[in-house]
Amino acid sequence: MRLLLHICCGPCSIMCIKTLRDEGIEPHGFWFNPNIHPFTEYRSRKNALTQYAKSIDLALTLQGEYGLRPFIGEVADDIDNRCVKCYDMRMMETARYAAENGFTHFTSTLFVSPYQNHEQLILSAEHAANAYGVAFLYRDFRPYFKEGQEKARELELYMQKYCGCIFSEEDRYKKKKKPAKQQLKE
Ligand code: SF4
Repeated sequence: MRLLLHICCGPCSIMCIKTLRDEGIEPHGFWFNPNIHPFTEYRSRKNALTQYAKSIDLALTLQGEYGLRPFIGEVADDIDNRCVKCYDMRMMETARYAAENGFTHFTSTLFVSPYQNHEQLILSAEHAANAYGVAFLYRDFRPYFKEGQEKARELELYMQKYCGCIFSEEDRYKKKKKPAKQQLKE
């Protein structure tokens, strides 16, 4: 099996790579995340992954540039349901690259996160696999999420505070705003 592993960030990659290697599969990392904004955040996550990949001898392809405009172009019509388009964009590009570069399978570190819509991710990956004629390797990495986060802290890897897009960055602050009544009870 030649596996292309889409990687959303360094911390999420830790346990995905480890469990795949434990299975005897050596993944090839693939960074493609036009959903990460603003530019400084994109650069921090990309640099953290590059540094981590080097430290564990992981082959890594860095695909694409900072993608604010193409990403917004895709999701602007339906911002509240943007995650489907976001998954589709990333899975389609991963499947395309896999098919055109001799990989037999692809998967994603997004399957480690309990904060992502896991079922929708599977649908997006299956759709991309059919579109490009390459196999989708499903793994539920979620049981390893906490361990991966702890390892990332130990390694002092850059840890992000929101999902990625500028809208999720806004949500981060919105969610912190609690009704005054609730604040008084705490
Ligand atoms: S919240 Fe996360 S998954 Fe959803 S569109 Fe934004 S970056 Fe993508």
